[in-house]
Amino acid sequence: MSALPSFSKADALASTEKVHNLSGGARVWSWRYIVLRRFTQVGFLLLFFGTAHWGWEVAKDVPLLAGNLSASKFIGLIPLTDPFAALQIFLTGHVLQQESLIGVAVVLGIYLLIGGRVFCAWVCPVNVVTDAAGWLRNRLGILAIFHLPRMLRYFVLAASLLITMISGLAAFEWVSPVGMAHREIIFGLGLGFTALLAIFLFDLLILKHGWCGHLCPLGAFYSLLGKTALIRVRFDKNTCTHCGECAKVCPEPQVLNLKKLEERGVVFSGECSNCGRCTPICPEGSLKFDFKPLIRSHNVQADAIAVQRRTK
Ligand code: SF4
Ligand code: SF4
Repeated sequence: MSALPSFSKADALASTEKVHNLSGGARVWSWRYIVLRRFTQVGFLLLFFGTAHWGWEVAKDVPLLAGNLSASKFIGLIPLTDPFAALQIFLTGHVLQQESLIGVAVVLGIYLLIGGRVFCAWVCPVNVVTDAAGWLRNRLGILAIFHLPRMLRYFVLAASLLITMISGLAAFEWVSPVGMAHREIIFGLGLGFTALLAIFLFDLLILKHGWCGHLCPLGAFYSLLGKTALIRVRFDKNTCTHCGECAKVCPEPQVLNLKKLEERGVVFSGECSNCGRCTPICPEGSLKFDFKPLIRSHNVQADAIAVQRRTK
């Protein structure tokens, strides 16, 4: 293993300067994943909305995307079932139909490959609201008034499953702001917009990244799936100056613990949502999306290049 290059505080400050002095074009380019995420989030809503209200079909009587975020069917063929919703239904004692089980397998397969919390950053409509609250909170310079442990979401997850078992009702499905928001946007039913406003105000005024980062049991459930993801953020320890700019934009900054990144060469935690905020902001190009089986060899190459540079 090669020795780490030693960067000084001045190097880190120079990296921060680079971020602050981005040209207009480079700044816009650094927003590319945010723009793409908004397209996919709105795109999914549009597919549901267009199918429900404008009768979008791929053939006669074959709807494009019918259902909701808990259970839907794509092009009349592919069932998609939220595994957390299915788990709750299973715990109520109901037998899951074969189609639901296939839907669970499809969704599990997708998220085991690309990262469970990709749902959070690229699909969930609540994320648009929590991102907006986080952005406004930074702009207004609102300071933290208290802290909660991020582990809390796993207790909420366990509690929601326990309540489901005891009550015989799918506990989180009844109160899920994700489902409520989706129902109100697509079908005009329920109190989804009220739930979104409450989350916005909570994240803006009370706790930074409060809902998604501390409380949401669905995000916690997908974090557990995320550990196996094949698409990962790779970390190059040879170029990182420890400026900390990545952690400033990351909604889960604990996953960018530099000591752990140096040990593993990759953002390992399933709590990373592959949102892509950190990769374009890093002024040294130390964070990049990569395919997990290639990360080790890419890091070995990066180490070799760094050693060559140092010995020149
Ligand atoms: S990885 Fe993070 S701390 Fe390291 S140089 Fe990039 S932005 Fe700075
Ligand atoms: S590590 Fe990067 S990709 Fe993962 S959540 Fe943080 S900013 Fe997003």
